[in-house]
Amino acid sequence: MEMFYLIAIFGLIAVAQAADWGYIDSEENDEGPESWSVNFEACGGKSQSPIDIVSADLEIDDSLSAFSFQSYSSESVELKLTNNGHTVNIGLVSGDQLMISGGGLPESFLFEQFHLHWGESNANGSEHTVNGKSYPAEVHLVHRSSKYRTLGDAVDQPEGLAVLGFFFEISEEENEVLTPLIDALANVTEAESSQLIPAFAIESLIADGLGDYVRYSGSLTTPGCFESVIWTVFDTPLKMSDSQIEAFRSLEDVKSEPMVGNFRPVQNLNERKVKRYSNDQASGASGYSVGLFALPLTMIVATLKM
Ligand SMILES: [Zn+2]
Repeated sequence: MEMFYLIAIFGLIAVAQAADWGYIDSEENDEGPESWSVNFEACGGKSQSPIDIVSADLEIDDSLSAFSFQSYSSESVELKLTNNGHTVNIGLVSGDQLMISGGGLPESFLFEQFHLHWGESNANGSEHTVNGKSYPAEVHLVHRSSKYRTLGDAVDQPEGLAVLGFFFEISEEENEVLTPLIDALANVTEAESSQLIPAFAIESLIADGLGDYVRYSGSLTTPGCFESVIWTVFDTPLKMSDSQIEAFRSLEDVKSEPMVGNFRPVQNLNERKVKRYSNDQASGASGYSVGLFALPLTMIVATLKM
């Protein structure tokens, strides 16, 4: 969720001047993540995102299940790619309504937009981390609860949003699924620029990452940081090449500086629990997942000996 949206939602243009924010904490300004809570109180809350996902602390939750995706393979959707000065936002303009259900969600949720976070180098860039490890990028698919009529109605409500997060790792080969997006980036280099993109089935973006996931209650990772998000972070990373991630780094932010490092540092878990869904648990299979969130092998061995 981005400032651009919040301005649009609330129509409070003055907020843009009164409360700038960015990703760099420095003595020259108070815009970095450490200072967000000065202007955006919720950013100092106890259920903030992102978090570090610690494999050894995950709890299997039998109430979780696989997601079902409705219309995600549709190409009858019009998407608009926008450089909002903090990220590139790919929003639904018109067409079929994309919906998720299952996945342990309390009701169905409607797709609104997706966007990415990435680093200056491949050493970091993801918002969530796994056992302290960062990935070069992370994509967030933002959905609003079907209980609410608009994103603005849902954005600050408990369980108002469901966000699906997928990590990216770097591959030798280009990920051809991303080509329409990467090509369009060249036309939105400057903040506030946007472009319609041709038919793009969102399922193709995430298909390789669907499967095991973790679940926790958290927040928007940008101001206003509302604690309204049912978070799902998938186990299997998606892929993009070095040249593809460089295209994201070629964008300019709201200050006409390179748009890099647009990720919030991990936040304290506090009293929250992180739950895990594994396909193995659903099928009753006895095999151990070798995914990112699986227990370290030494722990599995120790468990077996008990
Ligand atoms: Zn995000």
